[in-house]
Amino acid sequence: MVKLMDEVELTQNGNWIEVWGADWVLEGCASCNGVFVLPPQKVSQRCPFCGQAALAQMDPSDDRPIYTQPPELVVPFRTAEDRLRASVGKFAKSIWLAPADLNENALLSRMQPVYLPMWLVDAQVQGEWQAEMGFDYEIVSHREEYQHNNWQTERVKEKRVRWEQRLGRLNRQYENQSAPALDEQEQVEAKIGRFNLKEAKPFQQDDLTNAIAHLPNRPPEDAWNEAVVGLKTAVTQDCRLASEADHTRGFKWSPQFANQQWTQLLLPIYTSYYLDDENQVRMVLLHGQTGKLYGVLRASTKRAYRITNMMLKAASVFLGIATVLFLVDLLGAEGAESWITLALLLMVGLGVAAFLPVLYALIVNATQRTKEREK
Ligand SMILES: [Zn+2]
Repeated sequence: MVKLMDEVELTQNGNWIEVWGADWVLEGCASCNGVFVLPPQKVSQRCPFCGQAALAQMDPSDDRPIYTQPPELVVPFRTAEDRLRASVGKFAKSIWLAPADLNENALLSRMQPVYLPMWLVDAQVQGEWQAEMGFDYEIVSHREEYQHNNWQTERVKEKRVRWEQRLGRLNRQYENQSAPALDEQEQVEAKIGRFNLKEAKPFQQDDLTNAIAHLPNRPPEDAWNEAVVGLKTAVTQDCRLASEADHTRGFKWSPQFANQQWTQLLLPIYTSYYLDDENQVRMVLLHGQTGKLYGVLRASTKRAYRITNMMLKAASVFLGIATVLFLVDLLGAEGAESWITLALLLMVGLGVAAFLPVLYALIVNATQRTKEREK
């Protein structure tokens, strides 16, 4: 359980980062404003989260990030290497005319384990509640039907819900309600899926040996509102169970909260990137438990134009051949006509097909851009 930030005592030289338990380095990204705790051998590399800037060292005693306490829990990485390799290989091969940098080896060599923070909060909830509780019941009716020269009676069951107004008082301890410690958490989970928190274990220094930890950009007081949303869902569910009802609607409550205890938990992801034709960094994220990958694909328009160019050149060669054959035909040679037709057909075919690669690249990139906007 964490103490509030202002209670955190600085160590003698004012370097709070030592509370993490080892000689970590603090670095920040000027592009996504992410603040990271890194092992010393990892300093000043490209931002492992957005990829848009190099990380710059911060002075822990001057640039104090929003929240600096080390985590209590960690969900360990557990995706097998061959699984990661398969995910990355499939991604790299999923596009024709990929940029040169989009290949399995480059992606694997840049793969970086990163921990993202989230909160678990315990709280005592007290207060009045009221809601409409719905109870399922069945009515049975009979339907007469004339079949096979006979009247037949069929029993028909119909489900209905009876609604009743209920109210009550609640006083209960709720544990491990999740709340985001990062603005970007929802986005990340939308891309690679949620995490199985049942695998969480106590955090140890060794967990950071090779990994980079993203510090929270939403402190507990900021994340609390979202924890309340989750608590309300849990409370609604409990009130429904206590009423032995099947449904609820119009839940209202006037809660009071006490004894909030915050736990910081780290979630495992891998990040990697490739450079597209314009040397833009394209991030690739992988789930540290399932290996699920999210990445934006870009086709190489440069490669497409090169192929188009080659095909147009080949088409002009066939035009040349057809012209020569035509002259030969004029001179009275036998059987040139069919060769002229063939050369002209090849020329037209290549000329039309030549535009397909460029068209493909433009369409793929436009589709991907739309997809990205939707995420
Ligand atoms: Zn960044």
